[in-house]
Amino acid sequence: MTAPERIPVMVPWLGEEEARAAADAVRSGWVAQGPRAAAFERAFAERVGAEHGIAVSSCTTALHLALIAVGLGPGDEVVVPSLSFIATANAVLHTGARPVFADVEEATGNLTPQTVDAVRTPRTRAVLAVHQGGVPADVHALRAACADRGLALVEDAACGIGATVGGKSVGHGALIAAWSFHPRKVITTGEGGMVTTDDAAWAGRLRRLREHGMSVSAAQRHASGRPIAERYLEVGYNYRMTDIQAAVGLVQLGRLDEIVSRRRELAARYEQLLAPIPGLRPVRDPAHGEGNFQSYWVLLAEDFPAGRDAVLEALADAGISARRGIMAAHLEPAYAGHATAPLPVTERISRNSLILPLFHTMTHAQQDRVAAVLHEQAGG
Ligand SMILES: *Cc1c(COP(=O)(O)O)cnc(C)c1O
Repeated sequence: MTAPERIPVMVPWLGEEEARAAADAVRSGWVAQGPRAAAFERAFAERVGAEHGIAVSSCTTALHLALIAVGLGPGDEVVVPSLSFIATANAVLHTGARPVFADVEEATGNLTPQTVDAVRTPRTRAVLAVHQGGVPADVHALRAACADRGLALVEDAACGIGATVGGKSVGHGALIAAWSFHPRKVITTGEGGMVTTDDAAWAGRLRRLREHGMSVSAAQRHASGRPIAERYLEVGYNYRMTDIQAAVGLVQLGRLDEIVSRRRELAARYEQLLAPIPGLRPVRDPAHGEGNFQSYWVLLAEDFPAGRDAVLEALADAGISARRGIMAAHLEPAYAGHATAPLPVTERISRNSLILPLFHTMTHAQQDRVAAVLHEQAGG
């Protein structure tokens, strides 16, 4: 018997064009942050409808800078979902502020004004909302609530590129948003991130902070041909993106519409295949927008015949890579001893959900194999 062909959970969609773009950057002799990073920033900001883009090394560093921009530091509290990749909460701690975990709504896995209010205190200065798994958060409701309460709303859009709210890109109208180009996300530069904002002063400061707090960037000094003495205006970081990464990012951005429409098409087909399974609810578009299905997760009812981990085992036995659902940061050893309100929905989603394979070149036959295992596990 030949083993069935393995189905991965995610494969980035990269081709010859990306390979050529990276090679061109290498051949140009300018491989650190330079003209390609600047072009990628402009194209990305335009795509999401923001005035400024600041390319950085990852979404984790983008979040750190975004939280610095809004002025957070020791003594401040920031409301964050525990149901997120751990970098969301870590970025708050990197500023010296305290992450306060809020619960999420079951349908989207995202914060709502109600879940934020449940944990808000007089020390709360900001809310860090995540567009979890590419399901857009209801930013209109969150922005209104934050404005009323005098809180800054920072958006973790690591998974959000290509998702929309009210027909506009995630990031449009955001105070400040952070993005990821890790290969597990919708478009990739290997590693990489971006901050977007409409605030010119913040953009200027973050450009400096990502480059050691330098008054003049290395690329500008190189381009000028004259000696320019830079000053170091504040203590910064090295959070730069390379031009090799940015070259790949520019090509990937050009593929975004095609990638998102393929993901949505495959998600709609999963929805049909899985609809007959009782006690299994697939992630769906919320009423306020459309997702990009960066992570296609399904939630099992408490009385589903097989436990979540048993379903993952059965999928693995059939040669299918799936993943446990989105993690809950407050349950990790890194947050042991971090006082947290009860988070029943977060814990239920984290315990009973799993992420199914979904990638650009996935075939219908591969999807049928995934669905067959889930039907079998449901006892049908
Ligand atoms: C992936 C992810 C991050 C971290 O992104 P990196 O680019 O790997 O640093 C942060 N937040 C969320 C919600 C993520 O999914």
